Amino acid sequence: MSIVFAATMDGAERAEWLALLRAALPGETLLDAGADRIDPDAVDVAIVANPPPGALQGLPKLAFVQSLWAGVDRLLGDATVPPALPIARMVDPAMNAAMAETALWATLSLHRGFFAYAARQRAGQWRQHAQRRADEIGVAVLGLGQMGRAAARRIAAQGYRVTGWSRSAAQAEGLSTTHGGTALEPLLRAADVVVNLLPLTEATRGLFDARRLAWLKKTAGLVNLARGAHVVDADLLAALDAGALRHAVLDVFSTEPLPADHRYWSHPRVTVLPHAAALTDARSAAAVAAANVLRFRRGEVPQHLVDRTRGY
Ligand code: NAP
Repeated sequence: MSIVFAATMDGAERAEWLALLRAALPGETLLDAGADRIDPDAVDVAIVANPPPGALQGLPKLAFVQSLWAGVDRLLGDATVPPALPIARMVDPAMNAAMAETALWATLSLHRGFFAYAARQRAGQWRQHAQRRADEIGVAVLGLGQMGRAAARRIAAQGYRVTGWSRSAAQAEGLSTTHGGTALEPLLRAADVVVNLLPLTEATRGLFDARRLAWLKKTAGLVNLARGAHVVDADLLAALDAGALRHAVLDVFSTEPLPADHRYWSHPRVTVLPHAAALTDARSAAAVAAANVLRFRRGEVPQHLVDRTRGY
């Protein structure tokens, strides 16, 4: 049986992944859906990275899909992917660490007002503002999964008061936790910094709408490192314009790349990153993907399977 590689990526990136995966899977036949002739009856595994919609159709023996990306919302939104097909998402400690660094940088920058200082430099203004201690700053981390837990721990280790929010009750050493829909309002009302690391599901799409943005303190900062569709852009822009929150750090957008004429680019209260909070490191992620494929080959249950009914 063979493995098909289906991905939306350019030539050089594609060649790098194929080389790393082939090196990590000696003895396996890994075919590139974009270049090689595929015998549909001979494919039982797919390694994918945002494959074009319909890319996994017509493979009758396909029994396992390994994603190279951590977020699988686009794959789950493809109606042609059979509902019972096991899909594993990428869980790579190197990515969790990178995400934790970005979340810490954003938290520190918001807490100490470094975005405001950068703006003052551009304006040639020498002006200090008041300084607070880290233990006076409440940070809400939404989502306590792979990324959220790593981010929350890293931020807490710097002395911030961190509360993590999840769907079901969770325990995490050194953090306070809360869960469920009714816990969100008091959490957002109390937070100085809100870091979003939720998966995109029907329950979390549009979470940051006008109603919930209104729960934030006027001095609060919002950090969205998860998915653009968690935020209702018009509502966030209206809240920022009205001074209902101080600043937003946005790494992810409903349309990517962020369109050149989008107001986020030039908004004085917005910091834009190009979906770079935690890039997949092909070197470590190829090894993670290969190990999971080999688990499947040995008849073991692959790690980090997506729960299709939960949507993450
Ligand atoms: P994950 O491991 O699946 O995390 C899921 C967490 O969110 C769990 O704690 C879960 O609660 C919680 N959750 C799910 N639905 C919820 C709801 N309705 N209410 C409250 N909590 C809910 O996800 P991950 O791997 O950490 O990824 C987090 C996000 O980062 C994803 O959106 C992913 O696409 C994004 N991401 C971004 C980048 C980037 O560069 N910007 C890179 C990689 C990933 P339970 O524990 O109760 O299940």
